[in-house]
Amino acid sequence: MKEEGIFIEGFNNKYKIFSTGEIISLYRFANNGKKINTFIPIKFSYESKTKQYQCSLSSKIYNVKTLFIKYFNLNPPNNFQRFTLDFKNEKGNFNLNNLYFKPLLLSKANFLPEVITNKNNEPIQKKCIECGKIKDIKFFIKQVNQNLTTFRNKCNTCRKDNLLLEVKNNPDKRKTYLEYQRKRRSLEHVKEYHKQYDKEYRKTLPKTYVAQILRMSVNDLPKSLYKLKKEQIILSKKLKNEKC
Ligand SMILES: [Zn+2]
Repeated sequence: MKEEGIFIEGFNNKYKIFSTGEIISLYRFANNGKKINTFIPIKFSYESKTKQYQCSLSSKIYNVKTLFIKYFNLNPPNNFQRFTLDFKNEKGNFNLNNLYFKPLLLSKANFLPEVITNKNNEPIQKKCIECGKIKDIKFFIKQVNQNLTTFRNKCNTCRKDNLLLEVKNNPDKRKTYLEYQRKRRSLEHVKEYHKQYDKEYRKTLPKTYVAQILRMSVNDLPKSLYKLKKEQIILSKKLKNEKC
């Protein structure tokens, strides 16, 4: 082995870890207590339960990935999403050239969520796992944890669509949602917002507002009727003002 490797702490220089992906045991003691130099690779075993590679160093169990991350200072590309160290080509081969940080996903995804950063390592864009579109980072909800600021993997549009579908199809969720809406409407700042919003609406008279007055859906409202009703509203407003 050409390169030198790094001693693993706490074992009196017994084990060395190499960037080629091996951990080597450098000596052992014979029955008579004599130290015998060795160069034996430590076996890594895959635990299907935890889906982790383990090794045993002097009868203590270690997570192999953790050791390589620690001794070779492996860092994920950024701190705006969670990553897991994975193998590029060959599974179980810890050669640093075969390792990379893959975005961690808790569920199946159509696309890998990628956070794109600028020169100053600030997040600017992200790829949505649902629609695959690369969108401005402001379209992903920010999640601030203890030491990590991450962003939701689904863009706001996809999240909204999913939520609406869920609410529509699930009576319990629908009930919760309606209750939440009712409570929200009674909040002072929300009341004020709607007041201002309605004011603006009455001024500009958009199609949605006119349709609402006519108690019909916007799609069913013909242009001609919209125009007519709009004129009528403006006229009656004028008349009202002149009376006063
Ligand atoms: Zn999306």
